Amino acid sequence: MSNPDFERLWREFPKTLPEFEAAFPGEAACRAYWIEVRFGGLVACARCGYAQPYARSNGRYECPRCHYQTSLTAGTVLQGTRKPLKLWFRALWELCVHKQGVSAKDLQRILGFGS
Ligand SMILES: [Zn+2]
Repeated sequence: MSNPDFERLWREFPKTLPEFEAAFPGEAACRAYWIEVRFGGLVACARCGYAQPYARSNGRYECPRCHYQTSLTAGTVLQGTRKPLKLWFRALWELCVHKQGVSAKDLQRILGFGS
């Protein structure tokens, strides 16, 4: 798994509500951002490493080679959640706005990635 550039992603995270709504109008946009953060832009099969699993309707990705299903949120605080990503992003945004001094490191920790 490639190492996402948290500093850059954090700088690009919206800081105002209009920016937030513009950046994340729906689940697809949230998912794209999440994939950038979590997987460095490309989802790969967690078992065999095949780089082009296809998206299933349940939000998981299935590998066409070994049929392993990769969850976008496995190994993070969002694991097993059935809530939309946008809800989590909104909560994160609230946290950032109301609690000053949330850093890229904090974001990394909140989202459940080891440093
Ligand atoms: Zn696979």
